[in-house]
Amino acid sequence: MKNKRNLGEEILSHLRFYQDLGVRYADPAPEAITIHAATSKGEPPEATASGGVVPRAAAKPAPSAIIASASLFDDIPMEMEELEAIRQDLGDCRRCKLAPGRTNIVFGSGNPHAELMFVGEAPGADEDAQGLPFVGRAGQLLSKIIEAINMRREDVYICNILKCRPPGNRNPESDEISACEPFLFRQIASIRPKVICALGTFGAQTLLRTKEPISRLRGNFFEYRGAKLMATFHPAYLLRNPNEKRKVWDDVQKIRDYLKSTH
Ligand code: SF4
Repeated sequence: MKNKRNLGEEILSHLRFYQDLGVRYADPAPEAITIHAATSKGEPPEATASGGVVPRAAAKPAPSAIIASASLFDDIPMEMEELEAIRQDLGDCRRCKLAPGRTNIVFGSGNPHAELMFVGEAPGADEDAQGLPFVGRAGQLLSKIIEAINMRREDVYICNILKCRPPGNRNPESDEISACEPFLFRQIASIRPKVICALGTFGAQTLLRTKEPISRLRGNFFEYRGAKLMATFHPAYLLRNPNEKRKVWDDVQKIRDYLKSTH
């Protein structure tokens, strides 16, 4: 009896995750796996001159200037680097003007061999205080999202483009991105995830080198140096706009299905 009750509670707990994400019905037959940028009309993607893939134009024109350029990784050494070596190289970093205002560098955390990597914008107050990414309310929601696709937080790797908190949580500035971004690229090269999930406008626009709004970038896979990149809304945005959870649920289901297809 006790085991049956525990199982029931577990199922209920999972259902609450889905409900919290805005799911209102079960999906017994997951839709066909979308590797490239599937449009709402299910049209195949178009290849770019660089060999990357962008969504085929549907009702709206495809996001422009989305090219997974090899130059993004030009500075990366050919040999595989351990994350620990990258962290040591970062050291007590003073490479940009955010250093004096930070409490802790937030390098990243999780599985160094993760198949799925989340990349956010920059640490907030909670993250700055603890030196860990996504530990506040938004972080708790991110944990729920990860659990909803049957993964654990320790299975994935989570980090930000900037490793130090901008004052007052203002937007990162270009000189800060230029100084910090190479470390993110080295993290990606070390982990070699199958999927990178860019969280929020800034994360997506910076990685994809585009000014397209997140509302047009999300929901599509982009080629990104051997990985698939999916952009979706930031959990902090979802806390303010709970009606958008359903879209994030759609996005993470695509990630889940793609990862399944690779096994
Ligand atoms: S944001 Fe990045 S580059 Fe700037 S001080 Fe922090 S670790 Fe260094």
